[in-house]
Amino acid sequence: MHTTRLLPLLLVGVFALLIIPVDSGAQGSACGCSQQDKIDLDSRINQVTTAMKEYDALISEWETKEKGAGEPLMLNSTHRGNVQGSVGFRMSGAGDPNARAFDAVTDPACHITINPNATPCLRGALEDHEAVHKKACDKNTSSNPFIDWRSSQRVVDYMKEEKAGYQKELERLTKERDQQQKNCQKLTKLDPSMQRQLEQGKAQQERLQSASKRLESFGKSLN
Ligand SMILES: [Zn+2]
Repeated sequence: MHTTRLLPLLLVGVFALLIIPVDSGAQGSACGCSQQDKIDLDSRINQVTTAMKEYDALISEWETKEKGAGEPLMLNSTHRGNVQGSVGFRMSGAGDPNARAFDAVTDPACHITINPNATPCLRGALEDHEAVHKKACDKNTSSNPFIDWRSSQRVVDYMKEEKAGYQKELERLTKERDQQQKNCQKLTKLDPSMQRQLEQGKAQQERLQSASKRLESFGKSLN
């Protein structure tokens, strides 16, 4: 009895899912018309722009250091860690906490690995970025797989290469965002499970904020 009453409701639900417009096949574009793709794109564009600015600052800082030293300063794991640490810190501050982000890497043997979970919308930009590293790697790598060619690279050149990678990434991301604006009259909402996840995350953040405010006022009352 109950199940037969539920059936029409279920069918309505299934049809509702079927008629949600998904313009993912838009010409020349890998991004669909989902709100989440837009959040991801905007966030990554902000992060990449921030990274490029940070590289500009670091490049001029290291050029000054090199002048002072009077010799080329070469990359080692400490320098590389410091550079990546400060760029990574800026990038994390520039990202939208609701956005998805994926990593990619080109190893010393010039093999590119992109996080398999990367969405089609962001994957192309990551590929373009890593292609810059692969090109530099192919040109410089030795036949000995145990020698990392980057140990004979100037810190400044390494940072210029990274900046060029982000530049390529930005070009692709901007193109994707323009296409999305052109092709998608309406952006589809987040799917319900993603929406729930984001709301739970926000609620938790708000709880933490109000807890820290309570602590703050408690601290003040003690003074
Ligand atoms: Zn890179």
